[in-house]
Amino acid sequence: MRVPLAAGNWKMNLSRDQAIALAHAISEEASDSQSVDVVLCPPAVYLEAVCKLVEGTLIGIGAQDVFWQPEGAYTGEVSAPMVREMGCSYSIVGHSERRHLFGETDEEINWKIKAAQQNDLTPILCVGEHLEERQADQTAEVVTDQVEAGLEDLDEDDVLNLIIAYEPVWAIGTGEVATPDQANEVHALIRSILQDRYGTPIANGMRILYGGSVKPDNIRGLIAQSDIDGALVGGASLEAESFLEIIRGCGDA
Ligand code: PEP
Repeated sequence: MRVPLAAGNWKMNLSRDQAIALAHAISEEASDSQSVDVVLCPPAVYLEAVCKLVEGTLIGIGAQDVFWQPEGAYTGEVSAPMVREMGCSYSIVGHSERRHLFGETDEEINWKIKAAQQNDLTPILCVGEHLEERQADQTAEVVTDQVEAGLEDLDEDDVLNLIIAYEPVWAIGTGEVATPDQANEVHALIRSILQDRYGTPIANGMRILYGGSVKPDNIRGLIAQSDIDGALVGGASLEAESFLEIIRGCGDA
């Protein structure tokens, strides 16, 4: 039985006051959510404040990214031990904006996954194809390559502490959501890769989230699918009531 997970990726949005108000509004309803795991991923500069605000609740906090080195001369980067010390328990890794705007490679993403896990953070590994790749019928190939590269050197214990998010690039921030069937087909593919590498019990225990224009009015169709275990939400996580409705929708799984 996989507990659904709703994660909000706030990206580079909100003032400090707005971030605190949003976390407060979400924690008022979701602080003891047990049927759905709730994770908030604020900008790095607000992590400490938001971690403090939700302390003692069941809400988890995630960084949007971590660097793979623990410390050193890496101007502008934030390390996994740093965000762990602030109170984070998750980190998004390999988001498409990191891959495509900042040129992150599969190899670097694998290093980041390992750095997160070594510091008791659960990585949320994002994978997904571009529109041209889907149109050229390359979705399976692209997603398989990204998943395989992300999993490089990870053993059974490691993957028990890993979440994968399928986020088709063409659906992120565009309002164009994958249909439940389209999404589930890719989720089933990802689970079959996990099955081949780690066996059925482990694959069946791992959570695979969908991300890409998830909204209150489409979450229930997605979560009803056999291999969709929750959502990684961008735009619709910036407003409390809309994210709360997505959390409720995940609970209807
Ligand atoms: C995301 O950034 O991970 C995302 C899915 O964004 P949106 O929900 O806005 O498409």
